[in-house]
Amino acid sequence: ENKTTIVVMGSGSVGKSALTIQFLQNHFLTSYDPTIEECYRRQIIVDQKSVYLNIIDTAGQEEFSSMRQINFIKGEGFLFVYSIIDYSSFHEIPDFITQLQRSKDGDEYGMVIVGNKNDLENERMVKVADGEKLAQDHNCTFIETSAKTRANVEEAFFNCIKEVQKN
Ligand code: GDP
Ligand code: MG
Repeated sequence: ENKTTIVVMGSGSVGKSALTIQFLQNHFLTSYDPTIEECYRRQIIVDQKSVYLNIIDTAGQEEFSSMRQINFIKGEGFLFVYSIIDYSSFHEIPDFITQLQRSKDGDEYGMVIVGNKNDLENERMVKVADGEKLAQDHNCTFIETSAKTRANVEEAFFNCIKEVQKN
């Protein structure tokens, strides 16, 4: 049985829940309790093969909390999400990645860096090139998305699943 667990991580209000719901339920969430961590299950087809997908939409957890550790261990693929209109959310991504690397200690995993809210171009604070550079530094895929317009939402999740399937 082909099972894959994807964890959606990043600072508060970058759009983790909105991306997850847009991917799974095809609508844009304008408000969702930021403190709720939710796990979704879905059977999907990737490269003509059936995959049982678990998606963990994480919530505002403390940096060194055991919840976060458990998610690092459970996850096989990670979407590290920041908001292109919030520079601090971008700045926090390397810390997530460093912690993940420590937790995995050599185990294989897939990873995609996601710059969300790219429908808000006139409020942009993080350049596309900054996101690309960060992804290059960590040898992973980069994609900008909009949970509002659905731009690249499927691509973000499918890229991550494909990264995992490679391993
Ligand atoms: P989370 O804390 O990371 O789960 O963030 P949420 O998914 O709850 O989103 C926080 C706020 O940003 C909500 O008001 C969302 O409607 C809004 N939001 C999320 N994604 C986007 C997006 O791509 N574009 C725009 N314009 N707003 C978004
Ligand atoms: Mg949320």
